[in-house]
Amino acid sequence: MRIAPTENAGSVPEPYEREHLANVAPSGWENPTPSSPYDLLIIGAGPAGLVAARAAKALGANVALIERHLLGGNCLNYGCVPSKAIIRTSRLYADMRTAANLGAETPADLRVDFSAAMARMRRIRTRISRVDSAARLVAQGIDLHFGSARFVAADAVDVGGVRLRFRKALIATGSRPMLPTLPGLAEAGFLTNESVFDLTAQPRSLLVIGGGPLGCELAQAFARFGTRTVIAHREPLFLPKEERDAAQMVSDALARDGVEIHLNSTAVGVRVEGGRKLVELVNDGNTATVAVDEILTGIGRIPAVLGLNLEAAGVTYDADAGVHADDLLRTSNSRIYAAGDVCLEHPFTNTADASARIAVRNALLPGRARMSALTIPWCTYTDPEIAHVGIYVRQARERNIAVKTFTVPMHDVDRAIADGEEDGFVKIHIRDGTDTILGATIVSRDAGEMINSISLAMVAGIGLRTLAGVIHAYPTQGEAIRQAADAYTRTRPSLLVGWLQRTWMKRFNR
Ligand SMILES: Cc1cc2nc3c(=O)[nH]c(=O)nc-3n(C[C@H](O)[C@H](O)[C@H](O)COP(=O)(O)OP(=O)(O)OC[C@H]3O[C@@H](n4cnc5c(N)ncnc54)[C@H](O)[C@@H]3O)c2cc1C
Repeated sequence: MRIAPTENAGSVPEPYEREHLANVAPSGWENPTPSSPYDLLIIGAGPAGLVAARAAKALGANVALIERHLLGGNCLNYGCVPSKAIIRTSRLYADMRTAANLGAETPADLRVDFSAAMARMRRIRTRISRVDSAARLVAQGIDLHFGSARFVAADAVDVGGVRLRFRKALIATGSRPMLPTLPGLAEAGFLTNESVFDLTAQPRSLLVIGGGPLGCELAQAFARFGTRTVIAHREPLFLPKEERDAAQMVSDALARDGVEIHLNSTAVGVRVEGGRKLVELVNDGNTATVAVDEILTGIGRIPAVLGLNLEAAGVTYDADAGVHADDLLRTSNSRIYAAGDVCLEHPFTNTADASARIAVRNALLPGRARMSALTIPWCTYTDPEIAHVGIYVRQARERNIAVKTFTVPMHDVDRAIADGEEDGFVKIHIRDGTDTILGATIVSRDAGEMINSISLAMVAGIGLRTLAGVIHAYPTQGEAIRQAADAYTRTRPSLLVGWLQRTWMKRFNR
């Protein structure tokens, strides 16, 4: 069967963009003749589907991978990769503007080249797409089918009129942007994460609706490019999942970057006047009107279950939580598993990857790997970054777990001072009376890198007592973690130190 090029094909002329599409949605693709039945049939070739396909193939399984749009899914095409690429360039502009803080000069003719930043992003996306390319998957022995999969029985799907049967299947269809029901929005036109990275010209002004990770990251990036940026968020503070002091730091950072912040504010209507989009925001009964050139919505994600015809396979689901899967990632059909954004509470690439490995293991091997056994860190890539792993204090309270917290502000860390990156802290929560790490939040320019050593310690069962003895390279921002561990050891003098202290004090007092 021949598949037409995707909607995006040809919209951006650069040669590397053509290579990107050739990698992730090759035109004129001919689907293979299905082998019957497949050991594992995977629907969706985002991070979860790709990881699952390779893991199952490595076990010698006969694997079908079905993708309806772009290989690599959200993460590669309009999520993690493009967002991090433009955040990097926007950070450079922010650093250039504040060069005086580092004893340097801001170039007198500093000019933002937005289209160059976007072209760089597309080059990077193309480079990374080679790893997920159709040609590579086929070379790895995976049967790659382009088209929309739809269940037609408990053990079969239909793709473009062809029936594919399976012994086991994995639903890895991810998520799609949730859209606000806002009168006038559709008529005015708006961006989501699926279109914002196609921009080649810089919007002069932008309203971001939603103050979660996507909204905060992109609002800061656009503000740093020099776009007049407004952000509106329903709640009293951004990043509702994160600890309040951490979220407040992000709010302060956005304000410093010139983002106009509307908290506790709900967008209630949009109209177009004189070519501009006028958005009405209501805060505590008061209405403010914001006039912008573009609107970006980032109010959340919803699991992609539409069109799968899950009823035909006996797989239960709901529109908000997606496919119902248990701790072993089994659905209500014992042949069918689920992984990634379509079924999980935490919509992250690392979680999609880890869940895919668990699903493949449980589907194809004896054993019972569990999602609840995983330790999963995440990070919001604002500047400073907010990274978290494990339990939050509010969750500990809900579960009646007594915790003790050790906090080190980054302004007490030599390298942070030297780098002029003093905003933030390392906060580690332990089970009271032990040195067992239950969770941590890090706010720092490189929090995403730093959180990995806490995750390592948690997975390896290394407590704060041992971390205090780990020699860190000096000066590094990661030393904040050792300083937090030192703070713990100061509260727990060893028996020897206690004896020495008592003996010394006796002699001293004699
Ligand atoms: C702007 C943005 C930035 C992000 N940044 C980060 C980050 O920095 N770090 C991080 O960890 N996470 C980040 N994420 C989240 C991350 O992108 C997702 O968690 C991850 O992509 C989920 O992987 P997945 O495989 O479950 O689903 P997806 O990536 O959504 O892939 C699902 C695939 O299934 C296909 N599909 C759907 N239905 C069908 C069907 N019926 N038939 C065939 N194919 C189908 C889709 O076309 C898609 O390709 C970001 C997300 C966004 C939106």
